[in-house]
Amino acid sequence: MAPAAGVTRRVDAACPLRPGQPCTLCHPEAKLGPQDCPTVAIVMDDPDLRAEVARLRAELAAQAS
Ligand code: SF4
Repeated sequence: MAPAAGVTRRVDAACPLRPGQPCTLCHPEAKLGPQDCPTVAIVMDDPDLRAEVARLRAELAAQAS
């Protein structure tokens, strides 16, 4: 069942595409979290996009240390 208007869905997982941010189930077809998120699947299937996500993660880790 879809959440009421204005209610943000959220799972206990981080979004792989937005380092440091939680998964908010922003994609309507993501029901469980990153594991069934079509956007994550597309990004992780593309070597260039996957490398960019890795770069962003490394950047965030460097800022945190
Ligand atoms: S639904 Fe996908 S893109 Fe949206 S926050 Fe979750 S993992 Fe990230």
